[in-house]
Amino acid sequence: MTDVYNYYNNLIQMYGRPDDCVKCGKCEQRCPQHLKIRDFLADVKATLEG
Ligand code: SF4
Repeated sequence: MTDVYNYYNNLIQMYGRPDDCVKCGKCEQRCPQHLKIRDFLADVKATLEG
C-alpha cells in the first residue's frame, strides 16, 4: 500500500468517507474560494476507492 492510501485511510477514519457527504451544499455556500466540494469528493472517491 502506498503512502497516499495510508494517508487517505487515516483521514477517513478521522473525518469519514466521501460517501458520507449528503450533498447539502452548505460548505460550498461558505467557501471563500467557491470550490465545488461535492464534485471534488466524487473525484476523491473515484480516484482512491475505484
Ligand atoms: S455538501 Fe459539504 S457541508 Fe454538505 S455534507 Fe457534503 S461536505 Fe458536508
